Amino acid sequence: MPANPEMIRLFKAELELCKLRPDETLAVLTEGEEKRDFAEAFLAAGEEIGATTFHLNLARKPQRPGEKLKRTAITGNQPAIEALKNADIVVDLLGLLWSAEQKQITDAGTRMLMVREPYEVLARMFPRESLRRRVEAAQRMLEAAKTLRITSAAGTDVTYRLGAYPVMTQYGYTDTPGRWDHFAGGFLYTGAHDDGVDGTVVINTGDILYPFMRYVAAPIRLRIEKGWVKSIEGGGFEGDLMRDFIARYNDPRAYAVSHIGWGMDENAQWDFLGTSRIAAQTTGVDGRAFMGNVLFSTGPNLELGGKNDTGCHLDIPLKACSLSLDNKPIVDHGRLVPKELQATA
Ligand code: FE
Repeated sequence: MPANPEMIRLFKAELELCKLRPDETLAVLTEGEEKRDFAEAFLAAGEEIGATTFHLNLARKPQRPGEKLKRTAITGNQPAIEALKNADIVVDLLGLLWSAEQKQITDAGTRMLMVREPYEVLARMFPRESLRRRVEAAQRMLEAAKTLRITSAAGTDVTYRLGAYPVMTQYGYTDTPGRWDHFAGGFLYTGAHDDGVDGTVVINTGDILYPFMRYVAAPIRLRIEKGWVKSIEGGGFEGDLMRDFIARYNDPRAYAVSHIGWGMDENAQWDFLGTSRIAAQTTGVDGRAFMGNVLFSTGPNLELGGKNDTGCHLDIPLKACSLSLDNKPIVDHGRLVPKELQATA
C-alpha cells in the first residue's frame, strides 16, 4: 500500500523540526499491525530527507493488567534495543514511555519521538518553534522555583517542594541528543522531593481522568501527605474507578504523587473527548497539553530519574486552577499570567 502523500508531507516537516540529517539513521518502531500507515509514511519521509532508515516491527505483547513493572513488546529483547540505540532518532509508534528500555535507548544519545495520536490531532496540534520558545521560557521559571502551590475554587490547596528532579518539557519534536518528546502537545512538568507534597487536591467536575478517558461527574478529594495519596474520597462512579484501578496493582508505590506541571498548547481542545468522532483513538494529548491546565499525576517517577517504577500511572488534568511558583502567579484560574508564556508571545 503506497503511503499517503499528505501524511508523508506532514511527517517530513516533523522530521525537519527534529533536524534529521542525511547522514543520520532513522528507526521506526512498531508492534504487530498497529500504525503501519504511519510507519510507511515516516520511512518515506526519512528517505526523502536522505537519511538511512529501518523499520523494527515486534510481535505484539500487550501489558497484562495489574503488572507492577511496565512490560512492552521490546522488554528483554536486547538485540532490538541495541539496534535502536544505534539509530540517531527513533520514531516510537508502540509507546515505550515509562519503560526501562526507553531510558536505555535515550541514555545512548538517541533522540526519541513517540507518536500515538491520530493523524487529525497531529495535524491540528502540529508543533511550532513558538510553542518550544514558550515552553522553554516556562521551563526556566520552573527550574528556578523552590515551591509550587496549586489552589482552586473547588478546594485544591497543595504544595510541592521542588529541586530534587529535573524539569521535563514537551513541545512536539526533538532535535537534542538523548531527548524524548511526543508528536503533538506542549507542556512541562517536574517532580517534588519524594516526601515533598502536602495538601488537598480536588479533582473537580469536568476535570479529566486518564487513562479512563472520562470527564469527572462529581468531585474526587485526595488527601496528600509527604508525597503519598492517603485517601481518595467521593467522586461517585469515577471515584470508584480510580480507587479500584489503583488498588488492583496491589502496590503501595502506586499511591505516590508523580509529575506536576501545566499545559501550554493553545491548539489543544478540552472538549475533544466529548465532541470528536475520533476521540476513541486519542491517548489524551488534548487534556494534558491544554493551555492553562494543571497536570496532576500519580504513580511512577522513573522518567524524572526517580526510583518508583510502578506500572500504575494516572494523569489528571485539572481545569481553572491557579498555580504559583515561590508565590509568583503563573496560572490564574486557568489563564497563563507571564507575558512570555502566553500564546501571543
Ligand atoms: Fe504522566
